[in-house]
Amino acid sequence: MRDVIIIGSGPAGWTAAIYAARANLSPVVVASQVEVGGELMNTTEVENFPGFPEAVMGPDLMAKMQQQAERFGAEVVYDDATALDLAGDVKSVTLGSGETLEARTVIFATGSAYRKLGVPREDELSGHGVSWCATCDGFFFRDKTIAVVGGGDSAMEEATFLTKFASKVYLIHRRDEFRASKIMQQRAFDNDKIEVVWNTEIAELQGASGLTGVVLRDTVTGETRELALDGLFVAIGNDPRTHLVHDTLDLTVDGTIAVDGRSSRTSVPGVFAAGDVIDPSYRQAVTAAASGTVAALDAEHYLAALDDATHATPEAVTA
Ligand code: NAP
Repeated sequence: MRDVIIIGSGPAGWTAAIYAARANLSPVVVASQVEVGGELMNTTEVENFPGFPEAVMGPDLMAKMQQQAERFGAEVVYDDATALDLAGDVKSVTLGSGETLEARTVIFATGSAYRKLGVPREDELSGHGVSWCATCDGFFFRDKTIAVVGGGDSAMEEATFLTKFASKVYLIHRRDEFRASKIMQQRAFDNDKIEVVWNTEIAELQGASGLTGVVLRDTVTGETRELALDGLFVAIGNDPRTHLVHDTLDLTVDGTIAVDGRSSRTSVPGVFAAGDVIDPSYRQAVTAAASGTVAALDAEHYLAALDDATHATPEAVTA
């Protein structure tokens, strides 16, 4: 019987694996079939992870975390968790291959998924002019006119990055101020290729087989107008990935997995959660990594208490 299964391979998952492996818990990381490394795989330079004064590329940072976990004996499975049975003392995780892993604890670190605009034809035009990943798709928009939707750090980062390719980048935001950090905002304001479109949302996507433009709606006056575009990048935040556990673990009003105070303990004993999936507020690589540490330590303490109870003599138990 394994001690720990970690689901997710972002900063929280790998850091939990480093700590669990160093505690001799021989963790197995279910790292996903296609999205190994999580959200940082879609970023370029990470400038705010401590220890990298000259910045580090997101994929490099994740590769280093994985190497560190494997160096201490973490096992990695390149598959997706498709079903979980968390109720009893033995937790089981079913993989896409059909194989089932069993362990005494599970650390859930599945991160978050890109939020969608919720306008008609969004899925249909995904990959045909509508994208959620500038680093993946920016190259296809050389000398094109594109737009980025959003007002947070992601939108600033994507818009600035996309000016390497596009001739013009509209930055469309539904309010008249950004929530992004000042330094990221300033970088966008200082870029001649970026034009901010305030108080505006996307009402419609246009184009038959690929995006050719959008209908914009003024959020103050309600007026609409058309804007010709070759590409639209959606950067309006993320939602926690809880679909595997929404009927087994308690969730918060924000939709994140509920944990006990500052711990990683979920509503089911032996199940711990870490990273973006429990965090509606901070959602940084470094806070996710710290959260993974907490989960590994909580799992270690839980297992030690189980072992103590198993090895206790009948006298000690009744005493
Ligand atoms: P975010 O901070 O939640 O910002 C989402 C933005 O999208 C907000 O401006 C929001 O508008 C807008 N929005 C949300 N739903 C919308 C909708 N349906 N239609 C139109 N606009 C919508 O998300 P994020 O930018 O992805 O950042 C998430 C976290 O990651 C943050 O903590 C951020 O600091 C961090 N991050 C850091 C870096 C970095 O440090 N390099 C880079 C990227 C992300 P309102 O403002 O009106 O709510």
